[in-house]
Amino acid sequence: MQYEAVIGLEIHAQLLTESKMFCGCSTKFGSEPNTQTCPVCIGMPGVLPVANKRAIECVIKTGLAVNCKIAPFSRFARKNYFYPDLPKGYQISQYELPICEHGLVEIIVNGSTKKIGLTRIHLEEDAGKNIHEGAGDYSFVDLNRAGTPLMEIVTEPDIRSPQEAAEFVKKLRAIVRYLGVCDGNMEQGSLRCDANVSIRPVGQEELGTKTEIKNMNSFKFIEKALDYEIKRQIKILNEGGRIVQETRLWHSNRGITESMRSKEEAHDYRYFPDPDLVPVDVDNAWIEQIRLQIVELPDSRRQRFITQYGLPEQDADLLTSERAMAEWFEEAVKLGGDPKSVSNWMMGELMKMLNEENKLIEECALKPEQLVGLIKLIDKGVISGKIAKTVFEEMYKTGKDADRIVKEKGLVQVSDESEIEKVVDDILQKNPKEMERFRAGEEKLLGFFAGQIMKATKGKANPKIVNELLRKKLSGTS
Ligand code: ADP
Ligand code: ZN
Ligand code: MG
Repeated sequence: MQYEAVIGLEIHAQLLTESKMFCGCSTKFGSEPNTQTCPVCIGMPGVLPVANKRAIECVIKTGLAVNCKIAPFSRFARKNYFYPDLPKGYQISQYELPICEHGLVEIIVNGSTKKIGLTRIHLEEDAGKNIHEGAGDYSFVDLNRAGTPLMEIVTEPDIRSPQEAAEFVKKLRAIVRYLGVCDGNMEQGSLRCDANVSIRPVGQEELGTKTEIKNMNSFKFIEKALDYEIKRQIKILNEGGRIVQETRLWHSNRGITESMRSKEEAHDYRYFPDPDLVPVDVDNAWIEQIRLQIVELPDSRRQRFITQYGLPEQDADLLTSERAMAEWFEEAVKLGGDPKSVSNWMMGELMKMLNEENKLIEECALKPEQLVGLIKLIDKGVISGKIAKTVFEEMYKTGKDADRIVKEKGLVQVSDESEIEKVVDDILQKNPKEMERFRAGEEKLLGFFAGQIMKATKGKANPKIVNELLRKKLSGTS
């Protein structure tokens, strides 16, 4: 039997607001436990929550960016359950009336575009954290995170493979980061993804029974966990078994998903409108005001990079995946850098070094004008492409300009023919056997000779002249 996977994602994004969702406490990460709390967020009786306007704006902004309908009227609801990290006994969320519905995000998988529908985006508050380490026979509860604004984005079951799921989360992460509504940090949990997955025989319309997977904190783990889960479900059906609807936990160290709890139903939560909060009224003027704050998003920027700068798709993809990266690129081009050269340097050396240090482009000392300066030195023939890599590394580390590094280190390219000729003659003389083999037809030895010459000149010889001279000498015309 051939099966296909059906996947729907629920993504929680912590919003970048200064204060919490329903009180004035700070949302700062990493403070002493329970220092960022007040009667509202620890759920004292009789307190009155007030919704954070900026958080609502973040959700509307995201909704507009992903083609949602913004509800003119929405409401907060209480989702009731008991857990020690939730002292109120209910989470304030949204239920039948979310702020955004019916959105759409495009992803590109294996070169083709696919649309993923969004069911809804709603606003809710986060819970606190239970800490089991270092507490002996007890557990600690830290309520600093309780009441932090979260945006939950729910997709339609439109995703068909683990790869598509990972692409979707990448795209959504890029969008929220472009918008500045969430920092997208998956390791620290400011962007969390739960995946619902089922399988069905190819051609069947009806959906199979799904499981929900939690605890995947990287793109790689999303793919791996879904891969594992799909295989597990196929095996069960092939052996004549049935899928149990449940929540499963991904264990990255073991590479498996494991049952965590049986699936709860919405009615278990006894949702009801929160009587302490006024409904959210959104008028068109407010929506239009928020729309004006939306920057050019990854999809449109990617398309523009292809048409305006003639970049290949892969370059445009990578350069627009981060807003700061795209802006760095455009700054360099504005300063006179050839788009493809700038892109090559960014996608090659620059990303390599940023990755090595696990740094963001906005954190590095190298500025766009300095890369342009380097490219100009290469174009003018002042330095060779090989030397340029050394200069780049130095520029990246020190933030000094390329021409200064070239001067300080004496890296100017040697283009004086007679000077290079001396070295060429010397190398040929030292390698008579190789010369014979070359003349006998072993053309690839040209590379060997060129390499020796570059080594002898510490990479400074103009490679074009080296090649010309070598060919001339080896063919015996000189
Ligand atoms: P629940 O009521 O169990 O929370 P929802 O209908 O609200 O389920 O859907 C939650 C998520 O699961 C959504 O992203 C949705 O697209 C996805 N989903 C729903 N049914 C299936 C299914 N049979 N297989 C895979 N994903 C599904
Ligand atoms: Zn508080
Ligand atoms: Mg649901």
